[in-house]
Amino acid sequence: MNTYVYGYGPEGKERLIVVDLGVTFPDMESSPGVDLIMADAAWLEANVNRIDAIFLTHGHEDHIGAMAHLWPKLKAPVYARRFTAHLVQLKMEEAGLPSDMIRIVEPRPKAVEIGPFTVQFVPVSHSIPESSALVIDTPAGRVVHTGDFKLDGNPVVGEAFDPLEWHEIAHEGAGIKALICDSTNVFTQTAGRSESTLVSPLKDLISEQKGMVVATTFASNVARLKTLAEAGREAGRSVCLLGRAMRKMVHVAEETGVLKNFPNVLSPEDAVEVGRDNLMLIVTGSQGERRAATAQLSRGKYLGFEMKDGDTFLFSSKTIPGNERSVIRIMNALSEMGVDVVDDKGGLYHVSGHANRPDLEAVHDLLRPQMLIPMHGEHRHLREHAKIAAAKGIATEVATNGTMIDLTGVVPKVVEYIETGRHYLDGTVLIGALDGVVRERIRMALNGHVLITVIIDEDDVPLGDAWVEVMGLPERGKSGGDMVRIVEDELSAFLESAPDKVVRNDDKLDEALRRIARQVAMEEVGKKPEVTVVVSRLMAE
Ligand SMILES: [Zn+2]
Repeated sequence: MNTYVYGYGPEGKERLIVVDLGVTFPDMESSPGVDLIMADAAWLEANVNRIDAIFLTHGHEDHIGAMAHLWPKLKAPVYARRFTAHLVQLKMEEAGLPSDMIRIVEPRPKAVEIGPFTVQFVPVSHSIPESSALVIDTPAGRVVHTGDFKLDGNPVVGEAFDPLEWHEIAHEGAGIKALICDSTNVFTQTAGRSESTLVSPLKDLISEQKGMVVATTFASNVARLKTLAEAGREAGRSVCLLGRAMRKMVHVAEETGVLKNFPNVLSPEDAVEVGRDNLMLIVTGSQGERRAATAQLSRGKYLGFEMKDGDTFLFSSKTIPGNERSVIRIMNALSEMGVDVVDDKGGLYHVSGHANRPDLEAVHDLLRPQMLIPMHGEHRHLREHAKIAAAKGIATEVATNGTMIDLTGVVPKVVEYIETGRHYLDGTVLIGALDGVVRERIRMALNGHVLITVIIDEDDVPLGDAWVEVMGLPERGKSGGDMVRIVEDELSAFLESAPDKVVRNDDKLDEALRRIARQVAMEEVGKKPEVTVVVSRLMAE
């Protein structure tokens, strides 16, 4: 959920630019039922009059995914390159929001001048077209925000990393004051490999297969889609893209001119008619997403396609930490169908979109910044990256969420910690991560729920017995009796002899009934469920 802010000006009155408005994804354990997670933008909202612009480095969801949710609160002009802008425009339109605040920027030497900032977009290679680093010039010096990047001299689709241009950027004026640098692959010790090294292994693999071939990768990795589709065509197969996200990416890439000569593909309707030995599907869902094509195919028939004994399924992707279980479940389901599952084979069929440790060091040496602030990655990645910088004599600081750093001096100086947090998109509503909604949901999921209804008559006397319904609890417990009946009996026994002052007081009655229900459930099934008590009081005429 990348959300970076740069400011320049007198303290407390700095003009601000925001870089990226991303999301992260929920998991069943900590955020069940949540759709998306993004930064709590309260500080930005409170300082909305100081925000001059929003810059978007590239089109991955962790960089643009919050645009439709947070932009309406910030309402600043948005700058991005053509492909990214197009994706954001679709996102805004789908949400029924305007998109005319998006300005398309050409790369350096073109620049956006806004407030005290001059910002240039510099093409870098990554795993989505038109990724850019930002060169941000201010009266206090030059900052380079790398965004996600790798060093790829031949990325198949899109622009290569250009060391000559970066050499120039590092040597203009006073050089680079601060480098804010991707840290994702800091622990990978070998130099990164080019996207183009996959072309021949993928072609060999696909041409050797009998039966249907299905390959999955990230929908936004347009270069990989092209390599896979070409490999399929060269092996004499008809190719079909399955999954809305994938077709959208190819369409936008073609429309914005970043993708040329993509092989002809069949619609799913036409592809169903093709013999399986002559067919290759490229599908969404490499991370095991439940509703995506990969998961659907692992469960049986999907859009008329069905995997069979002797087919091949290729994961041309890396499993993002946290998704392993879903992916492995799918691999096993495919295996049970007799499908040969091929994974990235230690890099033979997939390369990362991020700079590895030797590449990061090369960038440090090329750019020679005065300071380095690691970004992108978990805390352990940031810390490791800072150590590398320090060992080279570059001043550095680990900036955790909310850290405000003064970059105007000789070394980075932490000046403030801003309160930050997470907001959940829950269905269609944005809620705070600490609002308690998801905490209650988790408790209900873990412990079950008991509903108690009692009626109290005009004279404050319980009318009839308590009425109980349970959800998510076993019907019978330790005693072998019916759980609902046992709870009802205990509650009714209590009501018969309950003191008047308890029966007259809603809070006390609620508390007493809740305690009994939890106690009985604990004895019977060993769980303390969530309890809702509904007291209906009849009014005297
Ligand atoms: Zn990215």
